[in-house]
Amino acid sequence: MPSLAVGGLTPLTSTDYPGCLAAVVFCQGCPWRCAYCHNSHLLPRQAESAMGWEEAAAFLERRRGLLDAVVFSGGEPTLQAGLGEAMAAVKGMGFRVGLHTAGMYPERLEKLLPWLDWVGFDVKAPFADYRRINSCGGGEAAREGIRLLLAAGVETEFRTTCHSSLLEEGDLLRLAGELAELGVARWVLQAFRPQGCAEKGLVGAGTTLPDSALLARLSAWVPTVEMRAA
Ligand code: SF4
Repeated sequence: MPSLAVGGLTPLTSTDYPGCLAAVVFCQGCPWRCAYCHNSHLLPRQAESAMGWEEAAAFLERRRGLLDAVVFSGGEPTLQAGLGEAMAAVKGMGFRVGLHTAGMYPERLEKLLPWLDWVGFDVKAPFADYRRINSCGGGEAAREGIRLLLAAGVETEFRTTCHSSLLEEGDLLRLAGELAELGVARWVLQAFRPQGCAEKGLVGAGTTLPDSALLARLSAWVPTVEMRAA
């Protein structure tokens, strides 16, 4: 049985894996501290409330034939060594496998490629500026993660959370250029969600998604740029 600390489980969602009815397994633990994180209870590696993979797997067994997919989210799922085995078990139950990641461990992501059907990849900032969002950097790891997913042809949604206090117009333009250089063809800009965010300064500040003029300039780099409201 894989060793995987599970911080929570969403039994049914239609929004976490495009076009699929899915369950979401929230993996416990993340080494980053993004200013806008709204899952702070999932950041410690251990939590009293966490359940083992055994319990989560028993639930998923009962959903065989009722769901299309299982999404591993977090926290940062790739932090945990047991993730690959858990994904293999989910495949064995007949589900598609989804992953939400910030790509901080490209060498682990590479080992997961055979199991992945879809990935939601959070791109935080221009790669040299990750520290501005998470206080610890990691942009080059994320760049490598993107490169691996594109090279493997895994269906991936690249998305960036927009908050005008963290990413200004010039930052988004620079990031668009970097993504274009990697070969990203579709990019989703999602609005900051105040729910669960512990940074009072971010919650209080007004923030907007790019206007149509900026959107046109971003689309000159990445062919499809979409906006997602909070
Ligand atoms: S990478 Fe994700 S889970 Fe980790 S701190 Fe950032 S937003 Fe939160």
